[in-house]
Amino acid sequence: MKLIRQLLFFIFLCNTVIAQDIDYARNVINDLCAPEMYGRGYVNGGDESAAHYLRNQLEKMGVSAFDFNYYQDFKINVNTFPEAMEVDVDGKQLHPGIDFIVSPDAPSVNGEYDIIYLNKSVIGNPNKMDEFEKTNKKGKVVVMDSTGFNKVQKEYFVAAEQNSFEATVIIKLIPEKLTWGVSQEVSSFSTLEILKKSFPENGKKITLNITNKFLSKYGSQNILGFIEGKTKPDSSIVFSAHYDHLGMMGSETIFPGANDNASGTSMLLNLAQYYSKPENKPDYTIVFIFFGAEEAGLVGSKFYTENPVFPLEEIKFLINIDLAGTGEEGITVVNGSVFEKEFNTLKDVNDEKKYLMQVKVRGKAANSDHYYFSEKGVPAFFIYTMGGIKAYHDVYDKSETLPLTEFQDLFRLLTDFVKTF
Ligand SMILES: [Zn+2]
Repeated sequence: MKLIRQLLFFIFLCNTVIAQDIDYARNVINDLCAPEMYGRGYVNGGDESAAHYLRNQLEKMGVSAFDFNYYQDFKINVNTFPEAMEVDVDGKQLHPGIDFIVSPDAPSVNGEYDIIYLNKSVIGNPNKMDEFEKTNKKGKVVVMDSTGFNKVQKEYFVAAEQNSFEATVIIKLIPEKLTWGVSQEVSSFSTLEILKKSFPENGKKITLNITNKFLSKYGSQNILGFIEGKTKPDSSIVFSAHYDHLGMMGSETIFPGANDNASGTSMLLNLAQYYSKPENKPDYTIVFIFFGAEEAGLVGSKFYTENPVFPLEEIKFLINIDLAGTGEEGITVVNGSVFEKEFNTLKDVNDEKKYLMQVKVRGKAANSDHYYFSEKGVPAFFIYTMGGIKAYHDVYDKSETLPLTEFQDLFRLLTDFVKTF
């Protein structure tokens, strides 16, 4: 009886330890996705608020700073939309983020415009096509819908997207999913993507009120800290994740970026919390780098590799985490086939412990912050989770619907993997 009671107490203890970790993970994601973080972009200083938050978390855990109070500053040019974002077709108001997105490089556009169509009924009819080509598109809005186009027609469509006919705005009707981004430049014209089902059929007039604000040499930052190794302090394992996201599209619409990449950021803070406990003190020095401006084109990590705070040669291995919030279909390891030995070790650990249903190998790809490191000869993986929800670079990537299915298993796999070095 006593044994059973002890056993039950032990199970209870295990569960509370696990529960605490996942609670902290979820709290971090909630905090990073909160309205006052403004989608961790460049409207209302969202990036700065997130950086400040991370710095405070590291300080609270007793993670050491290299210099400058955990900050590494850099500059970025970026196009933003802090103000108006209105689209109205024949009196029907469309909702930003839900019905439409504006191209990240869009300039301001204000006014009421006539609509010209380029779709299946036009491109498949020589007379209508002739008329389309003859019509002056300047000062007009061209609405393009490639549904049902054949290969040749699609090529024409792709060329038309370049807007050589100088329409004021190009609108593309999209069948189902809107995917936004960040641009470091401003185009000479705006492109809008509108969900096909949200666009009034044969709409005649469109009213646009879109205001961009280009920020030149905007100050953003990476946040970094370290926990000194017990036996090999001069060699380090680096965990990295970008904390920035897309920010806002207009004064009302926030892109929270829960999976991308509040989840990876939270994983790093969970690892920091783990390694900062005396009983988990690592052999190698563990460095945590939270990169800024990844979504604008890997700006923070590129800057870091050009201005490292300690020699890149001292990095034994770098593990970049981006999109850690699902895992129903396991994980993919970018650079897995480049660093085969380490990949096999990671896979062996997973097979033995049965954490994730799959550890999938992938080659080199410039798709997150590991890229400029491995280009400079630093051995690095980029790990992302697969399966589950499909929200990505849209307003639906929020904490409420992020499952964190394999978050704890991924955490265990990472800490076990570090022990193999
Ligand atoms: Zn990302």
